[in-house]
Amino acid sequence: MVFELGMDYALRMDAEDPLASFKDRFYHLPGIIYMDGNSLGLLSRDSEASLLEVMEEWKTLGIGGWAGARIPWITYAERLGELQAGMVGAEPGEVVVCGGTTVNLHALVATFYEPEGARKKILADELNFPSDLYALVSQIKLRGGDPVEDLVLVKSRDGRTIEEDDVVEAMTDEVALVLLPSVYYKSGQLLDMGRLTREARKRGIPIGFDCSHSAGVVPHHFDEWGVDFAFWCNYKYVNGGPGSTGSVYVNKRHFGKAPGMAGWFGNNRATMFDMSNEFDPAEDASAWQIGTTTMLSTAPLEGAVGMINEAGVKAIREKSTKITSYLMFLLDEVLSEAPYSFSIGTPRQPERRGGHVGVEHGDSWRVAEALKARGVVPDFRPPNVIRLAPIPLYTSYLEVWNVVQHLKAVIDNGEHEALSHERSAVT
Ligand SMILES: *Cc1c(COP(=O)(O)O)cnc(C)c1O
Repeated sequence: MVFELGMDYALRMDAEDPLASFKDRFYHLPGIIYMDGNSLGLLSRDSEASLLEVMEEWKTLGIGGWAGARIPWITYAERLGELQAGMVGAEPGEVVVCGGTTVNLHALVATFYEPEGARKKILADELNFPSDLYALVSQIKLRGGDPVEDLVLVKSRDGRTIEEDDVVEAMTDEVALVLLPSVYYKSGQLLDMGRLTREARKRGIPIGFDCSHSAGVVPHHFDEWGVDFAFWCNYKYVNGGPGSTGSVYVNKRHFGKAPGMAGWFGNNRATMFDMSNEFDPAEDASAWQIGTTTMLSTAPLEGAVGMINEAGVKAIREKSTKITSYLMFLLDEVLSEAPYSFSIGTPRQPERRGGHVGVEHGDSWRVAEALKARGVVPDFRPPNVIRLAPIPLYTSYLEVWNVVQHLKAVIDNGEHEALSHERSAVT
């Protein structure tokens, strides 16, 4: 892709952007360039409408909403799973919207981690989101294992990325489960999930992916790849709202397998209200639900996922790779040399990265704070990464161009130098 430095080029790109019209369907923070949609996506009018609709149903139907709402609440989780299936290359019954990301990880690992004899290790990596590693440690302990022995973390060669070759090499006959992220939350590296799944399956090892940083921005082909299970967060690129309900994918070849953490919402709907003491699990991924659908944290997803489907995840990915490439081009051209000295920690090849760019700098925390003072919202991840995420449905090329001018001005004026090194609680 060939880009140009000038502002007029950004304006031209916006004029040609097939997704440009989605921007007006979101609520934008007045005067703010929002580059943090990889942490919390913005609210759309569509999500607001689907949430308000459920509020109205609660108001007018009370408990009748479980059976009598437009989408009966009792099957809402399945219905939204159907809506999301295309986004991840799954069949409708393979996806269900329930729980939270870490909770779903527990439920799935409790199902697919079956340590036996010498095969009792979980293979993960040292760059995954810490919550995932905490959960894996506790799952190993629950099975009477020793996390020091049984949790194998593939090391990063450069502190930013994980080599697929290193993961494959670590898939020994002592490994009972592989659990990896799709996209690394700091560097933005996208793993080759197809290849890793092929290699794991060749060795008879179940493999699952945490797709929190790729769902809604990268196409997935779970069925085609043969992934055993996956889960993801819906408040990042899916724009489902703060603490929004997560999603679970279970490959249909595992339908009928007993969920490791059963609960009544995983029961077959037809017999659920028989209130039998015997669990009768649903026949598809629904069986991995545990408790009552959290309607108010789930309802915004109907609007949000509808927009992703309307735009198409393929078109979203096309814009995402183009706009992040453009951002990287500007960073390289304008800000890579002294006195700016910004560098990029994200892999350069489009097929090896997700939706955000990890920008590194010697004084990242204070630069990120100075950006905020200028009305740009990035986020910061220690030790030195400023994450910038242009979101295909609502970030314009002009905003990306402006972010780079703001970064330049921060350094030109030394604006970060007056700020404290002390970090706040939420970064
Ligand atoms: C955001 C994210 C989570 C969040 O977990 P919650 O349970 O929703 O707090 C977990 N894992 C990864 C990789 C994430 O990016």
